[in-house]
Amino acid sequence: MAIATNLGFPRLGANRELKQAVESYWAGKVTEESLLRTGAIIRRDNWLVQQKAGIDHVPSNDFSLYDQVLDTTAMLGAVPERYGHESGLVSLETYFAMARGTIGDDEIPSVPAMDMTKWFDTNYHYIVPELEIGMKFKLSSTKVVDEFIEARDMGVATRPVLLGPVTYLLLSKTNDPKQDPLAMLESILPVYEIVLKQLAAEGAEWVQIDEPMLGMDLDDRKRSAFGLSFARLSSATSSLKLLAAIYFSDLRDNLRTALALQVAGIHIDLVRGVEQLDEMMAKLPANMVLSLGLVDGRNIWKTDLTKATDLATKAVSTLSSDRVMIGPSCSLLHCPVDLNLEVGLDSQMRSWMAFAKQKVREIAVIAAVAGTRGIGAEALLAENAAAMKSRRESSLIHNPLVEARTAALTEEMHVRTSPYEERRALQRQSFKLPDFPTTTIGSFPQTPAIRKARVSLRKGSMTATAYQKFLKKEIETVVRFQEEIGLDVLVHGEAERNDMVEYFGEQLEGYMSTTNGWVQSFGTRAVKPPIIFGDISRPKPMTVTWAAYAQSLTEKPVKGMLTGPITMLEWSFVRDDQPRRDTCRQLALAIRDEVLDLEKSGIRMIQVDEPALREGLPLHQADWVDYLAWAVECFKLSVAGVTDRTQIHTHMCYADFNDIIESIGEMDADVISLEASRSGMELLSAFGEYQYPNQIGPGVYDIHSPRQPSSEEMKDLICKALEVLRADQLWVNPDCGLKTQSWAQARASLANMVDAAKSLR
Ligand code: GLN
Ligand code: ZN
Repeated sequence: MAIATNLGFPRLGANRELKQAVESYWAGKVTEESLLRTGAIIRRDNWLVQQKAGIDHVPSNDFSLYDQVLDTTAMLGAVPERYGHESGLVSLETYFAMARGTIGDDEIPSVPAMDMTKWFDTNYHYIVPELEIGMKFKLSSTKVVDEFIEARDMGVATRPVLLGPVTYLLLSKTNDPKQDPLAMLESILPVYEIVLKQLAAEGAEWVQIDEPMLGMDLDDRKRSAFGLSFARLSSATSSLKLLAAIYFSDLRDNLRTALALQVAGIHIDLVRGVEQLDEMMAKLPANMVLSLGLVDGRNIWKTDLTKATDLATKAVSTLSSDRVMIGPSCSLLHCPVDLNLEVGLDSQMRSWMAFAKQKVREIAVIAAVAGTRGIGAEALLAENAAAMKSRRESSLIHNPLVEARTAALTEEMHVRTSPYEERRALQRQSFKLPDFPTTTIGSFPQTPAIRKARVSLRKGSMTATAYQKFLKKEIETVVRFQEEIGLDVLVHGEAERNDMVEYFGEQLEGYMSTTNGWVQSFGTRAVKPPIIFGDISRPKPMTVTWAAYAQSLTEKPVKGMLTGPITMLEWSFVRDDQPRRDTCRQLALAIRDEVLDLEKSGIRMIQVDEPALREGLPLHQADWVDYLAWAVECFKLSVAGVTDRTQIHTHMCYADFNDIIESIGEMDADVISLEASRSGMELLSAFGEYQYPNQIGPGVYDIHSPRQPSSEEMKDLICKALEVLRADQLWVNPDCGLKTQSWAQARASLANMVDAAKSLR
């Protein structure tokens, strides 16, 4: 029997209670005390669930009111000056000010929030620490110890989780770009040492130090920082055992560094790198425990217990049971809470899935039967094996037609008939657009009325016919508005879409949605990714009615609007029984069908959005080439079936495109629109240097900002773009879709934008 552990549990609550509480607190509707009480209830429930499931090492301090990186910032007292924190504990007010900024009033100016960015390759976003030269670090939060005591007092001996100092620093930025955050390691370690001492004094046995950065590509200097850091931390107290937790990746070149750490145990992610297990076991120092991340913390599938217990048994017989821990690959933060809350789920499909609550149970079972050949758990293992078999063989998953289609793909299906220059000439003839053509990225404001209609349809209080009529009216409004304001290429506005992935997921075979499968995206925000469970196909057109209706209302070209295969893949839970590339190909074929139907219905411009292309990049650079090759291939497969006269657009945003510019070139879209205004067009330099040949629409205003830039400002931005791009390449458009804007904002900004383009002509 091995030790059952968990690295972290979802913290918004099974019904997103924390979201409710925090947002009510922000709105001034509940007191701080009431908010903290909600937090305590969620923590208690989570601890008890895990204890009851049989977890030996239940985590604490995995809870957060907003973000665990921000919690670490508060712990260190690393509050940027603009928030006016003086000394003492970081107040809740300061904490949320860092997360969201403050509005300000007549007397106090508003203060912007700290930056937010993606947590490794997940869809979770953390608050980026901002380190200032000369910053004094001082223990400024009692959270870690408080929550340990809170659990202890209810009879749960927890393993506190701390974000490790090296990962913390490597994820931060400094106010002086010449300053290296790692140089501050010596200054933050004393705070960690105090916390560890306090935990030891309160009776903690193990502390989990999360250092996912140790799984990334590192130079020697960064590598050695981990050795130094753990040497200091482990000498802070003699009674604590430290577990270095590395996840999201295999260790590769850092394996020796990890094995040389002064720690009592190492956690590795075997979902992302099962190959490292043998070497780890062979080289593990005799005084170290190995924690096996066997249960996927990033997906919703049941663990194959036969496979997992085989690995666990192997580890137990190699290392002995007291040196083996069983856990999830990473914190369960990235999966939904409870499968039992799903209503209306097909029972067979339910038998294939596990959310956080079910996963902790799996962990306990694996730990219990490790080394016992499953004695005592025969029934459980048999049930799991039956579920695995049913999933492997189910006709819900395997569609021979789809499999035949992907097997028959040809080179030709991935390339447009003629090269760009020839297409360009034909398209010029047929569209006769002015210079600097204006357009938008697709969505128009999602008004309360639109949301209400969608809810009414779902609840049955609005008939499908009435809903269709409602949408047609919306489309008409959007089309008339665009004509009136003088845009050159129109869109239908995407009023029918709740979300750019879920909308398509709902209509594709092989996809399903959950009712309560929420996963924290940032702060109080959660997303409900749809699940790709089987072979993907498109039974019937998904957007043609709306696009064609919009086109019937106007002489101007209406651009059809689709989500691309890579973005569909990235923003869904995916199958784990075939490579991502294969799933992406199936998605590409489904979208190809839609592209061709749009073309057939008279839509002559089609935009296939790929905002997630950049974020799909693997964590190790060595794996980029392979990913980019299949990602580009899938995009091309989805669009290349159209005739030369049909213009293909794509759109990307909120990413740094420098390192993937060649792949963007290979995608060979006739037009690409990009978010660019925040960086003042700087990102275009990559396109200039690469001599990007096709057309490009760098966004001229930030759709997230409440401020409406003047047409002069937009004109200046276009002029800046003209420094690196040719005039005949340029389109004029906003940074991204307008769905989060109000009509008043959209109206004002678009009018200025059209003005700017006209004056340039
Ligand atoms: N077409 C989408 C929209 O306008 C694109 C959104 C995105 O880039 N995330 O909303
Ligand atoms: Zn966008």
